[in-house]
Amino acid sequence: MEVRVKILYTSLCHTDVYFWEAKGQTPVFPRIFGHEAGGIIGSVGEGVTDVAPGDHVLPVFTGECKECPHCKSAESNMCDLLRINTDRGVMIGDGKSRFSINGKPIYHFVGTSTFSEYTVMHVGCVAKINPEAPLDKVCVLSCGISTGLGATINVAKPPKGSTVAIFGLGAVGLAAAEGAKIAGASRIIGVDLNPSRFEEARKFGCTEFVNPKDHKKPVQQILAEMTNGGVDRSVECTGNINAMIQAFECVHDGWGVAVLVGVPHKDAEFKTHPMNFLNERTLKGTFFGSYKPRTDLPNVVELYMKKELEVEKFITHSVPFAEINKAFDLMAKGEGIRCIIRMEN
Ligand code: NAD
Ligand code: ZN
Repeated sequence: MEVRVKILYTSLCHTDVYFWEAKGQTPVFPRIFGHEAGGIIGSVGEGVTDVAPGDHVLPVFTGECKECPHCKSAESNMCDLLRINTDRGVMIGDGKSRFSINGKPIYHFVGTSTFSEYTVMHVGCVAKINPEAPLDKVCVLSCGISTGLGATINVAKPPKGSTVAIFGLGAVGLAAAEGAKIAGASRIIGVDLNPSRFEEARKFGCTEFVNPKDHKKPVQQILAEMTNGGVDRSVECTGNINAMIQAFECVHDGWGVAVLVGVPHKDAEFKTHPMNFLNERTLKGTFFGSYKPRTDLPNVVELYMKKELEVEKFITHSVPFAEINKAFDLMAKGEGIRCIIRMEN
């Protein structure tokens, strides 16, 4: 049930940096990172019937076996077999790695390992897409953009005319803002500690900005004052535990819904007063924007093909594979949105 994929384009998502820094895990070393990418199937292993050599695919860090109770449920994308596992560095078939150096294994990362010209994945972790879709563009849909978009559209579900707060204006947060715009939200408040994100965020529908550093009062209180008691929806896209708590506590009582997307530090604990729940606020979390990778991702690509979803504006940089470290530098500096890494030239 494995496929060998020739990766043509990959991009850097904060989750790669996070696990490289070993903040979210028990370190596994050496391993090949990378999970946001686009490529072409080179060969398929025994049992694979869904894809064939030549098919264009997007790898996904969380899979869809199509047979387990989660895959059969319309309400879940948390596949029993292939759900995201950040500590496993081997293939599930035989518990071994498909990469090696000098006879020693190099481990996999979230079943994708796309910072490589060729990689091996379980077929349940690749979404077959329209071959007409330009892989150098739609590769960003394989993680960050779909995650942010789905977090708003599929999970937060802001009603038309509502007010939405987005915490963290990286690629995921900007996609969440774009989702709010598509859903018809009338006020979209971007919250970030880095004010250089604000100008860019206007292109993604943000109408107002709050930098928590500019205020003495907690940001929840600032947002409540701006919105007559709280925002209708909030989407957290930072990975910072304080921002997660703020994102929950800033939603309006009675109907407010907060959605957590950021991947937290492994020792993080969420602390809030239970009264915040009794007052009819809802807290949710999502992986991959609650999209089913193989079933739903091809349709997200189609939104782009029908010009209903703009992808180009998320892509601000592009470097050859040999200069991949520039993509890390850009992310560390908070510059740009997504940097495409070209595997060939
Ligand atoms: P990014 O680094 O590009 O953006 C994060 C933004 O958050 C930055 O602009 C940063 O200044 C801001 N920020 C950090 N701490 C903050 C705070 N306390 N308050 C306000 N803003 C703050 O990262 P990204 O690639 O957009 O990813 C965002 C998060 O989403 C990461 O934690 C990543 O691991 C996670 N992620 C989750 C999923 C999922 O399926 N749940 C998928 C992809 C990424
Ligand atoms: Zn499954």
